[in-house]
Amino acid sequence: MRLVKMLANMGYGSRKEMQQAIRNGWVTDRSGTPLAMDSKVSAEDILFDDEPLDPPQGSVLMLHKPLGTTCSKRDPGKLVYDLFPDRFKRRKPPISSIGRLDKDTSGLLLFTDDGQFLHKVISPKTETPKVYQVTLERPLSGSEADLFASGTLMLEGEDKPLKPAELTVCGPASATLVLHEGRYHQVRRMFAATGNHVVTLHRSQIGGLTLGDLAAGQWKVLSADERAKVL
Ligand code: URA
Repeated sequence: MRLVKMLANMGYGSRKEMQQAIRNGWVTDRSGTPLAMDSKVSAEDILFDDEPLDPPQGSVLMLHKPLGTTCSKRDPGKLVYDLFPDRFKRRKPPISSIGRLDKDTSGLLLFTDDGQFLHKVISPKTETPKVYQVTLERPLSGSEADLFASGTLMLEGEDKPLKPAELTVCGPASATLVLHEGRYHQVRRMFAATGNHVVTLHRSQIGGLTLGDLAAGQWKVLSADERAKVL
């Protein structure tokens, strides 16, 4: 893809503005040498205003979603999309979250503009495990693990039982839960079905990918190895 089009698709500005930016010498290689309009340098080796370029098309990003942010693209209030540079809103194709987390849930959330990757991760056939840390209002009764593992639990308003899920008790009112599907408010509704109430919910892992030391509100691009851990 031509340099001007690539930069415009990354949201840095209009094609006209990008032509001007190149003429001004703001687009360089890693050694600071200005690039020409027809340059074939790959995106990883380009600087814009002395800063490395944003992740190229087809990347997968991971965000440590902070509490209080929503996964909608339009809601009033703080959106997960506000945690990326503003120009991401002008990217073509746009990035979208892979599934969603509730406003009151923190943790690992993936984003991509790669439709195939997105659909593979959220497909019911894939069953990628997702790991949640839960704290509850009331102590666990002791029967939850068997119920969740049974594959018979029916959530209100649904006509298909949940797939078996693994619960590990961590304390009187705290547990780790591994799900292999992603229904609406699933963790909260599972505990509501046992007469309890989720107080805090955090997703720490998708497939073999963990948040590591990524702080709340921070994001990074997945390496090929990290990407392979998701599927
Ligand atoms: N289950 C929930 O109830 N909420 C989430 O955000 C994720 C899983």
